[in-house]
Amino acid sequence: MRVFFPLLVFLSLIFPKSNKYYDHSKSHHTPEGFTNPYLSLENQSKSFSSFWKMMKEERPKVSGVQKIINTDISVIRSKISTQKDFMVWIGHSTILIHISGKTILTDPIFSNRCSPVQFLGPKRYSDPAISVENLPEVDMILISHNHYDHLDRNSVIKLGNKPIWIVPLGLKDWFNNEGITNVREYDWWDEDIVKGIKLYCLPSQHWSKRTILNSFETLWASWAVEINDFRFWFAGDTGYNQYLFREIGDKLGPFDLSAIPIGAYEPRWFMKNFHVNPDESVMIHHDVKCQKSVGIHWGTFGLSTEPFDAPPKLLKEALIKNNIGIDEFITPKIGKIIELEKSE
Ligand code: ZN
Ligand code: ZN
Repeated sequence: MRVFFPLLVFLSLIFPKSNKYYDHSKSHHTPEGFTNPYLSLENQSKSFSSFWKMMKEERPKVSGVQKIINTDISVIRSKISTQKDFMVWIGHSTILIHISGKTILTDPIFSNRCSPVQFLGPKRYSDPAISVENLPEVDMILISHNHYDHLDRNSVIKLGNKPIWIVPLGLKDWFNNEGITNVREYDWWDEDIVKGIKLYCLPSQHWSKRTILNSFETLWASWAVEINDFRFWFAGDTGYNQYLFREIGDKLGPFDLSAIPIGAYEPRWFMKNFHVNPDESVMIHHDVKCQKSVGIHWGTFGLSTEPFDAPPKLLKEALIKNNIGIDEFITPKIGKIIELEKSE
């Protein structure tokens, strides 16, 4: 197994691909797929030896796992019927958010493992706060990219064709192959109005890979939605880049609420380009002009080598160091219902 994974990565780099969406005027497009305009090619491809070194890094034991709250679904339903705005972190990067009568879900994963198969791969150590069967009716689902911890086939099949799936460029075919046809795909800086929701596809600094041969073949993105003047930004997975996030903040900020990853950042020599640590999450919060942020992408799956309970501790330290109120960037328990208010 230890040799198998780096070998697959190596194979994916030597087989040529072609990008049917290629637009030479766009700096994140390549003839083969997509790229991060602020990273050198060298910084985006991992060598065989670096994968090998990463595989040998010590993994933390499961400790300091946060307790989850099993969300009371009757409270959710009553909030929806009385048009009260709220959000719930269901786990990892899955958020249920309800704003002015519209219900949106982000990167839904309800499976036990984030993996192509359910007998192998990173296993979740905290349950989803709401089961997929208990979810209220969802209008729209935002997908940030195709990694297994963000695009979970079992969850997609269960959620089906009723909600509209909003995906980055190149992912529509995958959904169609799974029988999901209610899907729209977008490139960075595209905007649209879907089901009365103003939508912006925005950059992030990350990558994509689903099979051995498709690294960087489909796009990754962050998403902004605007509903009745309330602005929500979903960061997806990302590394830090000041130009990228300042551009989002300058063009579309401020945001009333943002969901920003704070976990899966160690070892830094391997993760830094594609995954922020809490210090950088705070920089994003600042650059994107977020009035309030919620820390996601932690406390659910063991994907990296930092201790499981480290992200919120480091986040608090980073907020204090930057003179930002600790209630401005919060880490609620999985399952806690957070009431939302429009920032003044
Ligand atoms: Zn990812
Ligand atoms: Zn991820």
